[in-house]
Amino acid sequence: MSNKELADLIFPNITKTIEDYENMYPTRDLSSNAIVTRYAPSPTGFIHIGALLASFTEKTFAKQSGGVFYLRIEDTDTKRTVDNGIMEIINGLKEFEVTFDEGPINENESIGNYGPYIQSERKEIYQAFVKHLISEGKAYPCFCTHEEIDEIRREQERDKLRIGYYGNYAKCRNLSNDECARRIKNGDPFIIRFRSNGDYNKKIICHDEVKGDILFPENDLDIVINKADGLPTYHFAHLVDDHLMRTTHVIRSDEWVSSLPLHYQLFDAFGFKRPKYAHIAPLAKIDEETGGVRKLSKRKDPECAMSYYHKLGIPYEAVRLYLATITSSGFEEWYLHNPDGNIDDYKFEFKKISKSPSLFDLDKLNNISKNYISRLKATDLYERVSKYLNQYDKEFYEIFTEDKEYSTSILNIEREQKKPRKDIGCYSDVRKEIWYMYDSLFTNLNYDFQIINNKDEIRNILNLYINKYYDELDDKETWFNKMKLLCDELGYSSDMKEYKLNPDKYKGSVADVSMVIRVALTTKSMTPDLYEIMRILGKDRIKERISKI
Ligand code: GLU
Repeated sequence: MSNKELADLIFPNITKTIEDYENMYPTRDLSSNAIVTRYAPSPTGFIHIGALLASFTEKTFAKQSGGVFYLRIEDTDTKRTVDNGIMEIINGLKEFEVTFDEGPINENESIGNYGPYIQSERKEIYQAFVKHLISEGKAYPCFCTHEEIDEIRREQERDKLRIGYYGNYAKCRNLSNDECARRIKNGDPFIIRFRSNGDYNKKIICHDEVKGDILFPENDLDIVINKADGLPTYHFAHLVDDHLMRTTHVIRSDEWVSSLPLHYQLFDAFGFKRPKYAHIAPLAKIDEETGGVRKLSKRKDPECAMSYYHKLGIPYEAVRLYLATITSSGFEEWYLHNPDGNIDDYKFEFKKISKSPSLFDLDKLNNISKNYISRLKATDLYERVSKYLNQYDKEFYEIFTEDKEYSTSILNIEREQKKPRKDIGCYSDVRKEIWYMYDSLFTNLNYDFQIINNKDEIRNILNLYINKYYDELDDKETWFNKMKLLCDELGYSSDMKEYKLNPDKYKGSVADVSMVIRVALTTKSMTPDLYEIMRILGKDRIKERISKI
């Protein structure tokens, strides 16, 4: 029996050839420098922050070159696929502004001419490619049972040999086509394996756009390319899809780098031009227990999940800025000089991407986020915070959005100025930082009085202030001068320099007195500008709050 006859026996219903698919999915009409990338997640219900980094990188390179960025759902491992996984990916990424030129837009529809973009819908396409390999003698049916495969592994372990289906261990590799046909007709279950022509003792150089040239042993494993359920394995699906979808650059996480010799072989087996590969080094952190560096772990680190950032309300821009800062050399400096610049104005280059694991540090992210938020206009921040609260804190959402102008004016304190306030690192901080500006939340109070904490003295200061020195119409300078007069009258120093020289002459300083007013009105010892807070609260509410002390 010929290879062709064996291929027909295995796939009698597959009538399209690989040439048919070549014609259906022609080379893209793009300029020669255009980069076509894809984000290719498995719909497991979880998006790793490293995958988000990869998606930013893929989109950036495609966009900066005038190319195409598409989404491909890799769901051939049905055991890992969860319900609603596709929508979780699409919606989750949208929150980080990762949107696609092509790909599924929901479970049933997609955009683009290179689909289907969901692998489980491409079974026939893969099988045409498998069939082609069988007819060329480059793939074969394997009838080994799980027990037989286990037995091979045990033997290899016992003899301290490399584990896998290769060389003499590849039992079905040398079955005659006639024998294969007999067993297939007999109904024996089988899968399809790639017939590797590699020699493990020979070396191959693979090129990675980030890491440069890497020397690997050739692949000699006869890997499974088509499983018992008729679907391909990742390796084979990637070959078919990246070829037909005309991907120019496969940008993916580091875990796949050791598959390069196999992937080279698969492309070569078809005579296809290989895509370029770029592997992104993992994100790492210092382990709290051991002090050593380790990869971020889905099990141990909540910050590993993309949803962590969304739930906290860290602006997607800040996450992207942060990831670019830790993974792309030169970016941090560029951003320092262009703090108001758009990240897309920075020219990303593969050779500037970090080759080794980047250390992940939430404090640094928080800092970048604080700076980013500090530069947002109050109206923009109001919209972002409202959207966030609507999803994650309904109670405060109602309060915050009741009077848009009022809330915006609170956010606007010490904003849109040279040294803006930096107390907000994420949208969930907003409640913590401004709750006291809302009367309905100004209950069950826990005042953080500092140096002056004697209740009588506090009341004394507040009463004199409100009755004699406070005037709603005062400008900031007058307001401050009156604070000083209050100090003089009560025996506090109104001049900080003088106070430092002669502390014993006074009960305290103007800083201590204004702290009393700050705490009485807000409960907090750290707030943005007190004058602005008082201006927004207004006379009646100030009086009301003072009367509570
Ligand atoms: N589905 C693979 C994963 O989630 C994709 C790897 C790739 O980008 O090729 O790891």
